[in-house]
Amino acid sequence: MQDKQVALVTGANKGIGLEIARQLAQDHGLTVLVGSRSLEHGEEAAKNIGAGAHALQLDVTDGTSIKAAAERIRTAFGRLDVLVNNAGISHAGRPGRKFENLGDVNSLTTAPLDDVRAVFETNVFGVIAVTQAMLPLLHEAPAGRIVNLGSSGGSLTLNSNPSNPHRAMFGNYSVSKSASHAVMLAFAIALESTNIKVNAACPGFTKTALNNFNGTRTLEEGAREPVRLALIGPDGPTGTFSDEDGPVAW
Ligand code: NAP
Repeated sequence: MQDKQVALVTGANKGIGLEIARQLAQDHGLTVLVGSRSLEHGEEAAKNIGAGAHALQLDVTDGTSIKAAAERIRTAFGRLDVLVNNAGISHAGRPGRKFENLGDVNSLTTAPLDDVRAVFETNVFGVIAVTQAMLPLLHEAPAGRIVNLGSSGGSLTLNSNPSNPHRAMFGNYSVSKSASHAVMLAFAIALESTNIKVNAACPGFTKTALNNFNGTRTLEEGAREPVRLALIGPDGPTGTFSDEDGPVAW
């Protein structure tokens, strides 16, 4: 079994997930499993991070892949201390579709149900499935930590305020994030009597493929709050939703 803490970051082959994995390995000395649905992309990312990073094939929508990943963690590393549920999609990724032109497929008044299901499959059911599969390992850890990547764009409080100019975007993607916040809270409540703490982190509007690189924050800035929550001590919170500036309205 590894002496060092082991962290799994889903969707860590690029974007905020890659930066979270890099910071956990390089800045904090954890052994980091770079979850990636393409093993090749994961291996490339792990190689770039360097010592302490290992690729792990993991498609969060594929039960067989999730089960194999949990088994590989147990046999190859023997422990899991931190799970960062980072993998996410903003739309179903049909050819030629761009974040800026989501309009009809994002609004729930017109979004094809297959698109709604695809986004929820990754952003909501994927989080539940991966967390369930990793819980036996996290229970064995001295201080298990789970961090879900949330979004202030999914805040019901902020979006129910008519003066919020961004609320026109409150559609399929944001609604899936609202659901993921609820999922995080449900896990936190269910695990309250254990050593496992579960929190959600909003990275802010970060420049990644998810928003066609329209974000205004750097990857380093976007990774800060998820990394902080991944490393909280025994006095740290559970069942919270925050960004770098503090609590975010649910
Ligand atoms: P990104 O650069 O597009 O990265 C998304 C990652 O998720 C990629 O590694 C992608 O893998 C992976 N992924 C997608 N579907 C997957 C699946 N079924 N199984 C495993 N991995 C899968 O986006 P990002 O901005 O870094 O997003 C990371 C997280 O931050 C998401 O949960 C997102 O909702 C959240 N977030 C982002 C922002 C922002 O402004 N960027 C704001 C708030 C919250 P492939 O390379 O294989 O596609």
